[in-house]
Amino acid sequence: MEEKDLKISIAHLYPKLLNLYGDMGNIITLKRRCEWRGIQVKIDRINSGNAIDEHDLYFIGGGQDKQQQDVADELFRNKDFLLQERDRGAVFLGICGGYQLFGHYYQLFDGNKLNGIGLMDAYTVAGKKRYIGNVTVKTDFLTPRDLVGFENHSGLTYLEGETQPIGKVVVGNGNNGSDGFEGARFKNVFGTYLHGSLLPKNPHFADYLIELALEKRYCKIIKLSKLDDDLEFMTHDSLVGKAY
Ligand code: GLN
Repeated sequence: MEEKDLKISIAHLYPKLLNLYGDMGNIITLKRRCEWRGIQVKIDRINSGNAIDEHDLYFIGGGQDKQQQDVADELFRNKDFLLQERDRGAVFLGICGGYQLFGHYYQLFDGNKLNGIGLMDAYTVAGKKRYIGNVTVKTDFLTPRDLVGFENHSGLTYLEGETQPIGKVVVGNGNNGSDGFEGARFKNVFGTYLHGSLLPKNPHFADYLIELALEKRYCKIIKLSKLDDDLEFMTHDSLVGKAY
């Protein structure tokens, strides 16, 4: 199949509530990197009260605790469907607040627990300290190996079971500022604290997610054609290892 014959469907979950620090840039990047290759992209914005139907890739951004509370109930009502989607190989990308709701719960500072949907074995507890700053992560599944972004969270996320981190923290704090890891992956579910937004400065990760989503849709490995990413990697490389 040529790329112009390919299609991909993306669900943008609760963009009116969880879209902090430019997380919308991730959807724009996924859309443009498909369109530049002639791949037909369908993006559905899923807002409160909307039913969620089958997609190849699901994206959810970050947000303040209040917005997370508004979204948690909505997500929880769709938990069984989203777990089935995970097990069918759909790709999920959650940023910060959205990432926290991928786990089993997010315990707020006042002790109240927000239900997560358990797409991955993880949990989050709000801490006293807010982690803010640039982050560099060293992965073992991307080429180049680095991911760069910006973190702003007080939640401390702990991974359990078969859930693996996305990588090791080189600069910044990551999941909880103590175990030296950032992000999480279980099957094709990815969560990370990296705002920025993440994907414009990490085109290799964007393409990795698109290839996984196409593999799920067409049940075969699909390698994307190369794009001219000189500008993207000039930005990326200028941030690797930089705290300020
Ligand atoms: N409210 C969550 C926290 O403070 C998530 C913040 C975010 O999405 N940037 O940890």
